[in-house]
Amino acid sequence: MALIVQKYGGSSVADAKRIRNVARRVAKAKDEGNQVVVVVSAMGDTTDNLIKLAYQVNEQPGDRELDVILSTGEIVSSTLLALALESLGCKAVSLTGAQAGIQTDSSYSRARILRVDTKRVVSELEKGNIVIVAGFQGVTQEMDITTLGRGGSDTTAVALAASLSAEICQIYTDVEGVYTADPHLIPGARKLKEIGYEEMLELASYGARVMHNRAVELGELYNVPILVASSFSDSPGTIICKEASMEVKNKARGIVYDTNVSKVTVVGVPDHPGIAAAIFEPLARANISVDTIVQNASINNITDLTFTVARNDLIKAMSIVEPVVKSVGGKQCVTDSTLAKVSIVGTGMQNTPGYAARMFRVLYEQGINIQLITTSEIRITCIISEDRVKNAVQALHQAFELEKET
Ligand code: ASP
Ligand code: MG
Repeated sequence: MALIVQKYGGSSVADAKRIRNVARRVAKAKDEGNQVVVVVSAMGDTTDNLIKLAYQVNEQPGDRELDVILSTGEIVSSTLLALALESLGCKAVSLTGAQAGIQTDSSYSRARILRVDTKRVVSELEKGNIVIVAGFQGVTQEMDITTLGRGGSDTTAVALAASLSAEICQIYTDVEGVYTADPHLIPGARKLKEIGYEEMLELASYGARVMHNRAVELGELYNVPILVASSFSDSPGTIICKEASMEVKNKARGIVYDTNVSKVTVVGVPDHPGIAAAIFEPLARANISVDTIVQNASINNITDLTFTVARNDLIKAMSIVEPVVKSVGGKQCVTDSTLAKVSIVGTGMQNTPGYAARMFRVLYEQGINIQLITTSEIRITCIISEDRVKNAVQALHQAFELEKET
């Protein structure tokens, strides 16, 4: 008998009919002789709507209360799924994150899981129950409710799979797997049979919306195989695992884009030790995640510094950076929120020269100006104008022959 963890995303449980559909799929997994733990997201746009509601009664809702209200979305969907399973004659029990032993730190709205106490889940499984866990939430040592950050139900699922030593964590969503590019944008995008954790982590961090990057990281850390598949079909999906060996390696595997980019350029700061620390330390303290950072070689000991943040962090970032720049005698800060990142990813690019040059040429041939470039061992990212993104992804997908099965 295998233990499996399944996760169903918001669109898979968006209404009563879909919840009944999910219940049938869960019941089938149980009938096949498995022990089944199911993690659910909130129904459809519930989380967005709860946030709007909170802001309607308070322009600056406190983090603690916000996390409590957001956690209710997943409680509703988990109980409805348990009820739907009972109506099919299955034994099922729903648990909140706290009841399921998801213990977190107290950073509201972006809490980290510290440990999972699996006692309750295990005892419910032993009673023959299907266990439905409300995703995206946990509890602090002080018994305050936390949430794990938007899209966090994936992380709940992988954390439970790791703690329960599940055979597999199955993530069911509204797309059929991980594609070489966004299939809505690129009709020729191809579904991958397998992909390695590292590649998936880069794809998820640089724009693939199919899975939460923290969940991929956790999967890699605990070596949990993850299946990404559709809850609306029986198509085989994509397996995320250690060694994606079935496809030829020497190749770019996927192209992703992200339009949630704001650029900040700090102009004319003195080039001496401590300036970067003075700018980036307070940003880190404010929990603002800074992405691409570029510093120019200085002329006459004066330099420029550019970095990017998520668009909704820009106002906060500027309120922190502007006074610092002033205090160190910098000239000014300039921002731009009309940009996007486009990235090519693949372990095959490691130690293989030529990928970057090819990417730059493709963009040049499309007349697309590159504003910033960053790379990791297995990723090349260019920051370009947002209105050229579709064009860039299409041209790159074709140039790197991603539509072809290898
Ligand atoms: N419901 C939460 C969100 O919309 C968590 C999730 O869907 O995973 O972000
Ligand atoms: Mg969601």
